[in-house]
Amino acid sequence: MRVKLQLVMCNDKGDEETVTDVITLNKHNQRIEHLGLTLAESKQLLSTLQRQLLQQQINTFLDTRSACPDCGTLLKLKARGSRSFRTLFGTLKFSSPRLEHCDCTRHKTSSFRPLSALLTESVAPELLYMEAKWSSLVSYGMSLDALQDFLPLDLGLDVKTVRYDTLKVAKRLERSWVRNKRVLSRVIPASGITCLCLTALSKWVLTGDVRNWLDKKHNFEVIVGKSILSFEEGEEERAPSLKRFGFVQTLDTQSKRRLYKVLQSQGLQMHQEITFLSDGDDTLRKLQLELSPKATHILDWFHLTMKLTGLGQYGKGLVQCEAVLGEAIRDKIERLKWSLWHGQVDKALGKIDDLESAIEPFSETYVRFPRLVKTLSELRTYIVNNRHVIPNYGERYHNGEAIATGFVESTVNEVVSRRFCKQQQMQWSKEGAHLLLQTRVRTLNGELGTIFKRWYPDMDLEVEEIPIAA
Ligand SMILES: [Zn+2]
Repeated sequence: MRVKLQLVMCNDKGDEETVTDVITLNKHNQRIEHLGLTLAESKQLLSTLQRQLLQQQINTFLDTRSACPDCGTLLKLKARGSRSFRTLFGTLKFSSPRLEHCDCTRHKTSSFRPLSALLTESVAPELLYMEAKWSSLVSYGMSLDALQDFLPLDLGLDVKTVRYDTLKVAKRLERSWVRNKRVLSRVIPASGITCLCLTALSKWVLTGDVRNWLDKKHNFEVIVGKSILSFEEGEEERAPSLKRFGFVQTLDTQSKRRLYKVLQSQGLQMHQEITFLSDGDDTLRKLQLELSPKATHILDWFHLTMKLTGLGQYGKGLVQCEAVLGEAIRDKIERLKWSLWHGQVDKALGKIDDLESAIEPFSETYVRFPRLVKTLSELRTYIVNNRHVIPNYGERYHNGEAIATGFVESTVNEVVSRRFCKQQQMQWSKEGAHLLLQTRVRTLNGELGTIFKRWYPDMDLEVEEIPIAA
């Protein structure tokens, strides 16, 4: 079977037709693999179609710009030139003439390239969107592989270009975010709706790139968070809103505003109830306190219990050394946990003092004694530093209020590790990591499409109308 595809293009009036051969397929039908279009055929089809269509669009555009808009005189060609345009279906090169302005009106320049008004960028928005979206989810290399597998992208497209395009999108996100100061009044919930906002913040350390290795301060911190806003007793049913955010704090001068924007985009006003849960890191606490003075700040119970579980492991070791004394110490650890659960910080600190003297008899017999001493002293520092954010967990729990979500940890895993290769010891530049975080959180939040639609209003994208922090 022979299939011949032709492309028929009509002008806007419909009176002129041009016919071009697109592809001729010789298809067998004896085996299952003969059936239908192959990927290679579809790629050839799409790229040929794209080339013809684009050339026609460009020609039509150039035709409309070839004469003076005031007097109709044909404009003189000053120089030839070319432009290339990368699309999802191949890179195309067009001739881009430089024309002289007409003498009938005054112009700032003597000549211009009409195509510059149309090709404002050298990448098609859809390709840019796909590159940014996939690179936010998987590595630049895997994104390239996947796109090249399914689309007639040129082999010339490389990882560097995918990275460059993605970071270009991120930089644009950052610019529009900084500029956009308008209040998102549309999303502020109607009065009568009570909101409960839980915002979790956590910190992750990334390995810096080789250049930073020399100054030995090559590791840097990434702050990530997730904010869940749920609406209670509303007149209208509203789905909880979930947003992730992230930044490299030493690079980001506006982290406070960034966080505020996220909350604002969720419809939260600062006088409303908001609960911040954090892992008790110093830098985060400062940020949270500055951000929302009316908020409730809580050390995630999960993090406290993790530290106490660590201590409990030593307790077991002590029992094996000396049963009676060991059991007494395990009992003290339990009571320490009980004090913390009830937010009795001073009592808890007293119990740490007790523990420190109670373990003394084990200094010679217990192998891990020095590490136990260190753990206790670290726990004391942790509690002292976080005493203002240690609530009466028991009471909160009893009242059905949040004390831990576990999502502090899962946020780190979700936002950072899967893309930033926790295991592979990837090396990142601060700027590269910060920028990629911006496209990544937007992609995970399902906001990237909406943002592109805002940049390119006629883009053929199905997007949800969601308020976004950009
Ligand atoms: Zn003219």
